[in-house]
Amino acid sequence: MTPTTLPVQFEHFSEDMTDSNLTSERPTFVTHLSCSATGERYAADQLHGLSAAGKPLLVYYDHQAQAASLDKEVLAARPPDMWRYREFLPVRKAHNIVSLGESMTPLVTLPRTAARLNAAEILVKDEGRLPTGSFKARGLCLAVCMAKELGITRMAMPTNGNAGAALAAYCSRADIESYVFCPDDTPEVNVREIALQGAKVWRVNGLINDCGRIVGEGKAAMDWFDASTLKEPYRIEGKKTMGLELAEQLGWSVPDIIFYPTGGGTGLIGMWKAFQELEAIGWLGGKRPRMVAVQAEGCAPIVKAFEDGTEHAELWPDAHTVASGIRVPVAVGDFLILRAVRESGGFAIAVPDEAITLAQQQAARADGLLLGPEGAATLAAYEQALADGCVARDERALLFNCGTGLKYPMPAADQRLDRTKPIDYAALAAV
Ligand SMILES: *Cc1c(COP(=O)(O)O)cnc(C)c1O
Repeated sequence: MTPTTLPVQFEHFSEDMTDSNLTSERPTFVTHLSCSATGERYAADQLHGLSAAGKPLLVYYDHQAQAASLDKEVLAARPPDMWRYREFLPVRKAHNIVSLGESMTPLVTLPRTAARLNAAEILVKDEGRLPTGSFKARGLCLAVCMAKELGITRMAMPTNGNAGAALAAYCSRADIESYVFCPDDTPEVNVREIALQGAKVWRVNGLINDCGRIVGEGKAAMDWFDASTLKEPYRIEGKKTMGLELAEQLGWSVPDIIFYPTGGGTGLIGMWKAFQELEAIGWLGGKRPRMVAVQAEGCAPIVKAFEDGTEHAELWPDAHTVASGIRVPVAVGDFLILRAVRESGGFAIAVPDEAITLAQQQAARADGLLLGPEGAATLAAYEQALADGCVARDERALLFNCGTGLKYPMPAADQRLDRTKPIDYAALAAV
């Protein structure tokens, strides 16, 4: 097994600490958009939601021109953030870049967990380091930049928490008004950070799809732009940077298998798109990682559709799980998730909440990495897949921790000491 290489270089990072990725005009290569279901073409540089068929639109690029304008050495010398991939992104003008510092995220090993499982290598891409504490920053950063570029002044979305936080932060920075609707049992931190970062936020007595209906039906009255997952074309372009970044961090290669905590699936679809685009410009070969969609047993519509062999998923009734980021009973991009998983030779797998909680504790104690429950679900799924023989112990596995564990309720820690009494030091070590 080759050791993880992190070839990112900092030598050209300019002395005055300005980020040239944010200020330099760089060529862009978007040619058009296209319906992911029918292939119908749509013009670039115009406002779009879903296609006429009600399906997500995907952004297309001129790969020949991209390949001619950029090489790996130039890229390696740029500051280490998401905007180093500007030629792969749709934003035309540098002054429309709205940034809160979207740093590249590290690949953290779990050596003791790997030893416990007798596995060769486990890598975690820790997306909890991004602005607003989750990878939703990648997608919403792009969506808000494009909204700014296209003259939008008011945006709205349903959220399980992290997407709303990112929308609020980037909209405030871009001077765009934001409206956010969350299920009323969304983690408290999320609702408060959304409010604090300047969005108008409501708790709704329903699930994320019920919140989505409120956004959709409010369009006429409120004239807001619907920023729901995959209902606008640019969040996926932001999430795509996970795949670009990952390939670059691994020296322009891919891991054997990727475990992705799947809600709306933007990240999985986005990474799949990234690998295709990198192959199209000749930077990656034909090898793809097997893509694994991880869900919770209490909300597993994609897993059911995968097992049933269907193209679309059905609405999951009574969705519940501690991993609120993947509590998505219905996904508009279901067929795109399933297509990527199947084309890659991967699979979909559901894990119980108890396994999620246990995996979170084990990774934190053994390897010092605090995973969010969604990230912990990928570790639980990896363990389950090892036990079932769906993944080999020598496969290089990459898990996604998509948000910081600090936003979620944690197990109680109630031990107290009375400083006025003698302290039994020996007893401290015994607990
Ligand atoms: C949104 C979210 C997910 C699911 O991401 P999708 O790309 O929508 O499937 C997973 N984990 C966390 C922490 C999230 O916030």
